[in-house]
Amino acid sequence: MPKFRAPRGTTDLLPEEQPYWDFVSQQVERLCRAYGYGRIEPPVLEDAALFERGVGAETDIVQKEMYTFQDKGGDLLALRPEGTASVCRAYLEHGMHSLPQPVRLYYLLPMFRYERPQAGRYRQFHQFGFEAIGEGDAALDAEVIDLSWQLYQAFGLRDLTLVLNSIGTPESRSRYHQALREHYRPHLERVCSDCRARFERAPLRLLDCKQDAALAEAAPRSLEHLDGESAHHFQQLRAYLDALGVPYTQDHRLVRGLDYYTRTVYEIQPSQEGSQSAIGAGGRYDGLIQELGGAPTPGVGFAGGVERIILNLKRQGREVGPGAAPRAFVASVGEEAKTAAVRITGELRRAGITALMGLGGRSLKAQLRQAGALGAPYAVIIGGDELAAGAATVRDLARGEQESVPLGGLREWLQARVGGPLS
Ligand code: ATP
Ligand code: MG
Repeated sequence: MPKFRAPRGTTDLLPEEQPYWDFVSQQVERLCRAYGYGRIEPPVLEDAALFERGVGAETDIVQKEMYTFQDKGGDLLALRPEGTASVCRAYLEHGMHSLPQPVRLYYLLPMFRYERPQAGRYRQFHQFGFEAIGEGDAALDAEVIDLSWQLYQAFGLRDLTLVLNSIGTPESRSRYHQALREHYRPHLERVCSDCRARFERAPLRLLDCKQDAALAEAAPRSLEHLDGESAHHFQQLRAYLDALGVPYTQDHRLVRGLDYYTRTVYEIQPSQEGSQSAIGAGGRYDGLIQELGGAPTPGVGFAGGVERIILNLKRQGREVGPGAAPRAFVASVGEEAKTAAVRITGELRRAGITALMGLGGRSLKAQLRQAGALGAPYAVIIGGDELAAGAATVRDLARGEQESVPLGGLREWLQARVGGPLS
């Protein structure tokens, strides 16, 4: 047992995992740019109060999951548990309301939540997300939903469902809250203790309770309690999604139980059921910026969980591009040849060819075995004869064939066969 291990719920992202991470972040970057979103990277640490305000004091995140601590100067800080509050804080702090609206921003960041670790649920994990702030038009909801959907298509994930609902505005919601309380009041012993505590302050959350699905299924529906404008907004949104060809299913149990969430809520779910099922969620938050001290400003956004996406890619047997396997392995015999090997390896690397060399005075046989184990297609062999001839012996490790290649033309020879830098 090693003395130190990564803290519970955190992992080392090792080199063999990186192709998946590169793949996901490349798709995020490519599509977000195509949709006109600019990258933002807020600090890992924020004023803890930002999340109490911006995520909501009633949420699991704030009640149970935040890493909050006092720093040496006495400030109460938190490790970021989600991205939206930070992005909205930055929007206000940098006066982005004076830019053309909406302001479109995206991020890919580590998040921290003190949770019970299990497959697809960690204490340090990563989310990508995007926020479009400063416009209430349903066409912007459609844009954000379309971007989310196209991204998951680009990941190559199959059998996904986009679940959609509308929860109206805080003003119209009080009637709905009342209807929900009437529905649940006679059955409060059937919901979990957390939900019982939320019954008065955040009754929407009861629809999310895992304890009694039938009770939630029979509950009154938010769509039946929408104000006229919200109903119109939802109708427009569905028409725009149809125009974009984005498929969705409606689910009246999908909610976000905080006052500054408005109208649109949605989730992307993989086919396999389970408590870790959602691989991304988003919605409209027209009250949030005001909650953070700004002028009333609408906004809509989405966040996806990178680890859960990669988990699903692996489950579906999705292969991603090559890793960092060397393209050439330079083996040498003798000290003089080794100096040449150092020089040649350096030249190949500067030409963008991933190259490694034999170290530690191992035998030629051991070096070639290592080249094979590392997956290098070619071994470049330098010994006394090669130095004298000014030409390397290059062995095709898969075929076992070899030929002599003049040192001066080695770089071009390899480039023609293994390409330039890894793309
Ligand atoms: P859950 O109900 O699974 O806890 P959530 O509602 O807390 O999810 P969001 O805050 O909406 O999740 O975050 C968006 C996405 O981030 C989720 O859909 C999920 O893919 C991912 N995610 C959330 N928490 C974790 C975690 N602890 N570890 C890994 N991924 C997570
Ligand atoms: Mg959670």
